[in-house]
Amino acid sequence: MAKKFLINTGGNKFLIKDTAKDFHTKFGFFKKGDFKSKGKIKTNTGKEFSVFDAGFIDLHRKIKRDAQIIPLKDIGLIVSETGVNPKSKVVDAGSGSGALACFLANIVKEVVTYEIREDFIKIVEYNIKFLGLKNVKIKNKNIYEGIDEKNVDLVALDLPEPWRALSSVKKALKVGGFLVSYSPSIPQVMDFVDKVRKNKNFAYIKTSEIIEREWEVEGRKVRPRSQAIGHSGFLSFVRRI
Ligand code: SAH
Repeated sequence: MAKKFLINTGGNKFLIKDTAKDFHTKFGFFKKGDFKSKGKIKTNTGKEFSVFDAGFIDLHRKIKRDAQIIPLKDIGLIVSETGVNPKSKVVDAGSGSGALACFLANIVKEVVTYEIREDFIKIVEYNIKFLGLKNVKIKNKNIYEGIDEKNVDLVALDLPEPWRALSSVKKALKVGGFLVSYSPSIPQVMDFVDKVRKNKNFAYIKTSEIIEREWEVEGRKVRPRSQAIGHSGFLSFVRRI
């Protein structure tokens, strides 16, 4: 049976990975047979939840993670600025936990993700299977040494020294294709943009940071949520010319 997602009117959520087992929560437990029902189900203590097949995003929020992943707010800007779509071919490095690679794979035609560490490759393999993706290929290669793919629409880099990938990226990207580099700190952004500006094969577009501020809305207590996420990274956008 497909993985199920449960949510109640209070916004409490559960992902049921194994529908062949009972599931215990602080609201009581569900019996394994309950997950076959459609619509509303109740715990043994009578708390009601809505049940449905888990969607891509319900699963993506629960992927295994080890390296720092690119958060959804930043993935959103990558998708909107580059216009990737079901025809696009994407290369990504390093894979890390595969958060970005897998999110993009759900939108584009194919993703090839480069990773030098075998322990991370195992995590990405697990996540690809968990999400049921068929269009992600993992390569155990150093992206600074070359990209095998050609005519690529987007290369996304989340690496300590992204400028070292520029000559590989130049050969892989189609003219007009995008390069986006994600870096947590400004010295990396400075070096990357400086190298891009000196390279006549690229046009530098912009560097942005996405600040998402979630608000608490409880009656008249309406204010920014106190434990908001802090800084993640800067996104630099470049086009192959
Ligand atoms: N964007 C990923 C996280 C990447 S973390 C996500 O959303 O999940 C950075 C990863 O880059 C690490 O796993 C590291 O092993 C890998 N890496 C570092 N240098 C690399 C290189 N030259 N080629 C390929 N992968 C590299």
